[in-house]
Amino acid sequence: MATKSLHKRESDLANSNRQLEILSNGIFQNGELPTFKSKISETKQFPLKAKKLEILQINVGYMCNQVCEHCHVDAGPDRKEIMTRETMLQCLDVIKNTGAHTLDLTGGAPEMNPDFRWFVEEAAKAGIKDFIVRSNLTIIRANKKYYDLPEFFKKHNVHVVSSMPHWTRGKTDKQRGDGVFDKSIKALQELNAIGYGMPGSGLRLDLVYNPSGAFLPGDQASMEKDFKKALKEDFNIQFHNLFAITNLPISRFLDYLIASENYEDYMYSLVEAYNPTAVANVMCTNTLSVSWDGYLFDCDFNQMLELPVNSKVKHISEYNEELLEGRNIVISQHCYGCTAGAGSSCQGVVA
Ligand code: SF4
Ligand code: SF4
Repeated sequence: MATKSLHKRESDLANSNRQLEILSNGIFQNGELPTFKSKISETKQFPLKAKKLEILQINVGYMCNQVCEHCHVDAGPDRKEIMTRETMLQCLDVIKNTGAHTLDLTGGAPEMNPDFRWFVEEAAKAGIKDFIVRSNLTIIRANKKYYDLPEFFKKHNVHVVSSMPHWTRGKTDKQRGDGVFDKSIKALQELNAIGYGMPGSGLRLDLVYNPSGAFLPGDQASMEKDFKKALKEDFNIQFHNLFAITNLPISRFLDYLIASENYEDYMYSLVEAYNPTAVANVMCTNTLSVSWDGYLFDCDFNQMLELPVNSKVKHISEYNEELLEGRNIVISQHCYGCTAGAGSSCQGVVA
């Protein structure tokens, strides 16, 4: 398993233009498979339009203590892009004034941003209904300075959403690195001990499953049942919901698909599983993604592909909800990942 990001390795695929070229050429250029644009045009859903903003997702930096095989952020300890306090202040202005009901902090490992705690404290004051932090769990056990994170989350009524690709050590460590499973279990037990994830508890703890290879996730509800049973029996761990997320063919997962000669088959399976009813609810229609340097994107995936919003407003400092609403969403073939089967978003299935 690689221990460096594609950027650090100076891989061809660290370049977003190269990724977009791959997604537009070959099987899509020669007409073997329809482009996403032509597919959604069949049901008159092109152009995809942004509706009212409900979820503001802020990426506070690409630095992470892990280097997971599938990471669409290409995150890792070697990534230095980190949101400054100045950009956080611009975000806070928007958080205080937006009608969005959900604030979603992500990374990398968001906790590694030196201003993370200050930002959470300030953002929590805005009283947004659902305040999510995407924590990779291992960060809680990575260093003494993070040991009190569960208490910190509890103090600010943060909703913790964490990746947990499997309930077994082997499958988890294969995707996320040696030792990740044991640390994740310990972190989950600590979260449970202070009330997170317990039945009836207002301290929300949800897990995210994504497949460990070139296949689509199974049924979310039955996987949730299996995860709950296994984690309870083996480790006495409880959690609220499981979100099943499809891996999008970008960044390190695209690199994996190409290296394992699965790229074309995977694109075929995404297109074959295309579900037109998922299109109306893809997350870009009610979400805005803010990058570590304050630029605006339709979603986290478009952020990584450096496809900015199609609007006069490009940066959080110029934020204007009216101007952003109704914008045309920027799409490419990676979008098939959001419309396969029951659909996929940062909150799990959409159809
Ligand atoms: S998937 Fe999450 S935990 Fe893994 S490297 Fe990427 S940001 Fe870090
Ligand atoms: S990848 Fe982004 S832009 Fe494309 S459908 Fe999914 S959420 Fe929308």
